[in-house]
Amino acid sequence: MSEAQTVELAAVTKRYGDALAVDAISLKIPAGKYCCLLGPSGCGKSSTLRMIAGHEDVTDGDIMIGPRVVNDDPPAARGTAMMFQNYALFPHLSVAENVAFSLRMKGVAKEERRERAAHTLELVSMTEFADRTPQQLSGGQQQRVALARALMTDPSVLLLDEPLSALDPFLRVRMRSELRRIQAELGITFIHVTHSQEEAMALADLVVVMNDGQAAPPREIYNAPRTPFVARFIGGHNILEDEGRTITLRADDLSILPDARAAEARRRARVSEIEYRGPDVRVGLETDAGESLTAVMGERTFFESPLREGSEVALGWQPEAAHELSRDG
Ligand code: ADP
Ligand code: MG
Repeated sequence: MSEAQTVELAAVTKRYGDALAVDAISLKIPAGKYCCLLGPSGCGKSSTLRMIAGHEDVTDGDIMIGPRVVNDDPPAARGTAMMFQNYALFPHLSVAENVAFSLRMKGVAKEERRERAAHTLELVSMTEFADRTPQQLSGGQQQRVALARALMTDPSVLLLDEPLSALDPFLRVRMRSELRRIQAELGITFIHVTHSQEEAMALADLVVVMNDGQAAPPREIYNAPRTPFVARFIGGHNILEDEGRTITLRADDLSILPDARAAEARRRARVSEIEYRGPDVRVGLETDAGESLTAVMGERTFFESPLREGSEVALGWQPEAAHELSRDG
């Protein structure tokens, strides 16, 4: 079993011709952590992952895995393994043969190949499917096989490029907890790129928001986004001007005040939209000052005194709920 390794990027830049795909990203991922690189499509997530794996040259900057700069190392010498978005399984080989393929290439004896493949299939809960071919599996099962195959090289760092994006929402949530379990069981470093803030928050010890460079545990990213970009991208936040400062306020911290407390109002607004979401209700608001804000309240709370579109309301929040943004972004 490989030991977990730190991964460090120092001002790593990628250009394709004149096009800048990754602009001097710096980050430090501690060994054995689950790190999610989060950002919108086209922000350079796959390029970053491919540079870490060694499938793409670094234009500028350094990549360190453990104590070593690996910029010039071939992929196989880096201790990384990549799980691809399209699972790229061999259609004519069985599940077990797919998983053992890299060992066969290395000339590992048949008995050992068989044993190690069986062990890895067990880890991803695919033992009973060992003799099937990939066409006889569902998308979620194919993905487990792809994961098992990546793990067979015994990596220190596993790289996952949007591994859940092709799955339906139900499977995605299930596979998410499987990935978390497998990472905890192996104790190696996972770097998982995704455009889904929900996925990043559910999985990561460390979330890195790509465009902005903020790197922090999920709760810190959510409760203390550093810039307007992060606050918008993470979602669930209002951004507003208050007493000369730009602040964020979680949508569930913006209160619609009952008439008796209207004197505490910090804003007056009109209800522009009501969206029922099951556990909660999202209320769109247009303030007198022309801001568009969102309040989210528990389903039961909302229906104690339901609002209607067009209602005039008073808005308030606790001073400690406001979080100041440090700069524009
Ligand atoms: P993401 O994975 O975040 O969607 P990518 O790393 O795939 O982002 O792409 C970042 C930018 O680099 C995009 O503008 C994309 O079009 C461009 N790009 C990616 N791969 C190549 C390539 N092989 N050649 C030229 N441009 C590329
Ligand atoms: Mg990508």
